[in-house]
Amino acid sequence: MRFAFFDAKPYDKPFFEKYGSKNGVEFKFFETKLNSDTVELAKGFDGVCVFVNDTVDAEVIDSLREMGVNIVALRCAGFNNVDMKHAFGKLHVVRVPAYSPYAVAEHTMALLLTSVRRIHKSYIRTRDFNFSLSGLTGFDLHGKTVGVIGTGKIGRVFIDICRGFGMKVLAYDKYPAEGLDNGDTIRYVGLDELFENSNIISLHCPLTDDTYHIINEDSLAKCKQGVVILNTSRGSLVDAEALLAGIKSRKVGAACLDVYEEESDFFFEDYSGHIMEDDTLARLISMPNVIVSSHQAFLTEEALENIAETTVRNIVDIAQKKQCANELCYRCGNTEDYKGGKCF
Ligand code: NAD
Repeated sequence: MRFAFFDAKPYDKPFFEKYGSKNGVEFKFFETKLNSDTVELAKGFDGVCVFVNDTVDAEVIDSLREMGVNIVALRCAGFNNVDMKHAFGKLHVVRVPAYSPYAVAEHTMALLLTSVRRIHKSYIRTRDFNFSLSGLTGFDLHGKTVGVIGTGKIGRVFIDICRGFGMKVLAYDKYPAEGLDNGDTIRYVGLDELFENSNIISLHCPLTDDTYHIINEDSLAKCKQGVVILNTSRGSLVDAEALLAGIKSRKVGAACLDVYEEESDFFFEDYSGHIMEDDTLARLISMPNVIVSSHQAFLTEEALENIAETTVRNIVDIAQKKQCANELCYRCGNTEDYKGGKCF
């Protein structure tokens, strides 16, 4: 079987070549993203392998179908970039529901610690032999309250890490996990209670109609003064303009973003020699209390290995058995009423 692999990066290739060659799946790596302009590249392939910023909209789905391409293998968990309703009955769409929740949860804590202990500032200072401590005062995480929105695989690992730091957890999930609420240090609450009482808010839910701009002007108004916002989930969970306004008004004490609403225009590419066209992103990055990483949270050896292994297994399952436990399906409601990946 031959797969067109879009948005290929050097770190993807060794893992996909290893698992592909063991299982009779040949990948042709294209650096370009999949969209209506590039879909022609998929001609002659059995399927396409795509990532978070490829566009699998109705036009691309119809083109793939016309070319006889019938598998879309997402090498990620989120699938907000696929028009699942339009894909239904036309293409198999498979994903990697979990690769390393530790990778994302640990990166979230790395961003939080960097921000609240000003490591990003001290790193630059000491490289310039500036050993002054002025402006580097942080705060203890111990005893603080973290609001965690989405208590699936990543959210729960992040909660464990926060508990290790002696933090209290207020959790919100549309489908609360049984046994997580201990009535004391970890409690499920409504969104308003979470906004009003959290020092730090971390997003670990998928992007759906319900969660689009869950951090917005209204929700920020309910938050504590100096709240720290962490988003390692999906950019459009946060209204970036409202966040910027919150930072300018000092309501938001800090923000750590691994994802950004318009990231597909920039993330994963080197724009260091260019004029940044996105004023909101440029302004956010210019703030001393904002840390941006470019959708890097997943990027560990362990996660890359799991992503390649699961993607190849998904492809082989569909080809050989015509079904796969990781297949997404519009009909069973998974895309409208997401239940943590339980599609059947
Ligand atoms: P998961 O499916 O295990 O957990 C998602 C949780 O969100 C579930 O408990 C679900 O019930 C809950 N949820 C669904 N709708 C909700 C709503 N309206 N409000 C609140 N909670 C809701 O997923 P996961 O593996 O923990 O991943 C979480 C998210 O992390 C993914 O959706 C993806 O967007 C993001 N992610 C980011 C990276 C990265 O590199 N930055 C990597 C992997 C995943």
